[in-house]
Amino acid sequence: MITRMSSLFLRTLRENPADAEVPSHTLLVRAGYVRRVAPGGYSWLPLGLRVLRNIEAIVREEMDAIGGQEIQFPALLPKEPYEATGRWSEYGPNLFRLVDRKGADYLLGPTHEELFALTVKGEYSSYKDYPVILYQVQTKYRDEARPRAGLLRGREFVMKDSYSFDLDDEGLARSYALHRGAYLRMFDRLGLDYVVVAATSGAMGGSASEEFLAVADTGEDTYVRSTGSGYAANVEAVVTPAPPEQPVEDKPAAQVHHTPDTPTIETLVDFLNTHGAGRTFTAADTLKNVLVKTRLPGETEWTLLGVGVPGDREVDLKRLEASLEPAEVALLEEADFAANPFLVKGYIGPGALQANGVRYLVDPRVVRGTAWATGADKPDHHVVDLVCGRDFTPDGTVEAAEVREGDPSPDGHGTLVAARGIEIGHIFQLGRKYTDAFEVDALGPDSKPVRITMGSYGVGVSRLVAAIAEQHHDELGLVWPRAVAPADVHVVVAGKDETVFDGGERLAAELSGRGLRVMLDDRKATPGVKFADAELVGIPTIVVVGRGLAKGVVEVKDRASGERTEVAVDSVVEHLV
Ligand code: ATP
Ligand code: MG
Ligand code: MG
Ligand code: MG
Repeated sequence: MITRMSSLFLRTLRENPADAEVPSHTLLVRAGYVRRVAPGGYSWLPLGLRVLRNIEAIVREEMDAIGGQEIQFPALLPKEPYEATGRWSEYGPNLFRLVDRKGADYLLGPTHEELFALTVKGEYSSYKDYPVILYQVQTKYRDEARPRAGLLRGREFVMKDSYSFDLDDEGLARSYALHRGAYLRMFDRLGLDYVVVAATSGAMGGSASEEFLAVADTGEDTYVRSTGSGYAANVEAVVTPAPPEQPVEDKPAAQVHHTPDTPTIETLVDFLNTHGAGRTFTAADTLKNVLVKTRLPGETEWTLLGVGVPGDREVDLKRLEASLEPAEVALLEEADFAANPFLVKGYIGPGALQANGVRYLVDPRVVRGTAWATGADKPDHHVVDLVCGRDFTPDGTVEAAEVREGDPSPDGHGTLVAARGIEIGHIFQLGRKYTDAFEVDALGPDSKPVRITMGSYGVGVSRLVAAIAEQHHDELGLVWPRAVAPADVHVVVAGKDETVFDGGERLAAELSGRGLRVMLDDRKATPGVKFADAELVGIPTIVVVGRGLAKGVVEVKDRASGERTEVAVDSVVEHLV
């Protein structure tokens, strides 16, 4: 295939885009791969689309190789399945919501666990049907708070999402391992320098989970790895064992009090002062050392509003008033926290907070740090050791941990070093959160129903374009690994004579005949402009057809190393194939 630059829909830019924060963003825009349409929304121009398609092809090959079957869902989805799992409200403002002409609620899918679970339930019924792995390469929508860095954090982006369905835990572990292997092969083939780190499950729910992070200073994730072992974890997921010298003493459960049926700010303040642990609240107060579970306006789910973290992330009492819903409040002893701000690291599960060697038992109905932490199956006062080091945000999500470089590794081997990365893939053993919600059962050999267990596995396909560009560029432009490059060879015609143009055409035809994807710069531009564009566009091999042609030679330049070689025209094909 020959792509002629004289007719290619491509205009490169000399200036950096004003909004660009990272090299991949700058270069993908300057080299004419993508154009911004809206915050977090980009159009793909011909070269960009080729790179995206090349990545998709590798992703599909590796998914097919582990037995994945490709299907495709709409992005426009009805509310009901997401309401059934609670995610319609849990996703909060991150969800793009729409109303159709009949007034029915819809959303643009941020991820598709619900739909896959329902589809499998619809088609399969016997244990003989399982296991199955289904995937799609599809456009996702998330109204990200901070769309950023071009393709790295879009509000519309392409994800490969796959889902495994198994009869038992061993099956799930197998499907998870298959995906892990496929991801290693995928990211190797894509030429990425990456790490696999322990991760938290976030809004997905579930237990075991790992992230694949492309190593990059411009990444938004921080991970730590041990100098003395293979331990590596996203700082969000570092779980540090409690220091042994601190004996744990159980305190009685913090008492739960119910607010009046329709609280106002005044009755709420009264209420807090009546039940408070010796502290006086005013209407202007923020909540400290108080756990409040309430329903925010328009939401059906309970939300954790305040937590015993003194300092920055306190919740304004006014937010409670806005809800005017009954709230359940548990007050913890302020002194313990104030004297020695505790690090709650890990997620808040039903039952307990551990701080400074004291475990505060909390009524499990009060505490809801993450979506999956609640549930009727959880025993009362179930004690979870919350002993790693993180703060909670008012919505119960977890902020970056306070592990630092030089801290001892949680596995006891070596110390931690920190670095930054871009999350390019994430694999989860979900378990039965979604199959419980939709009662996805298979009829077992004994005719008894077996609840299916699920895994979910994502790859940020469009983000990969930027992640690869972050790792593969220099001050002149992009430097694509061949597997994803928009062409294999960039033939630059450097000269005005017809003989040079003819020579370029002939060489391009020959290379293309041998199966190479050729970009031919046959424009009537100066060699300087053409060279600059070739460096910017980043095709791995550049062949300059110019003055040397009279002597029967062309120049072959390796874009990555910058190494130039004079090669006889008749042996260029052999040289490159
Ligand atoms: P992040 O932590 O970067 O917000 P996430 O953990 O929310 O990502 P997942 O729900 O795990 O993302 O989705 C699977 C994959 O989709 C991620 O590993 C990432 O590569 C990609 N992805 C997620 N959000 C975006 C986005 N806004 N733009 C581009 N790719 C994204
Ligand atoms: Mg996210
Ligand atoms: Mg993440
Ligand atoms: Mg993730």
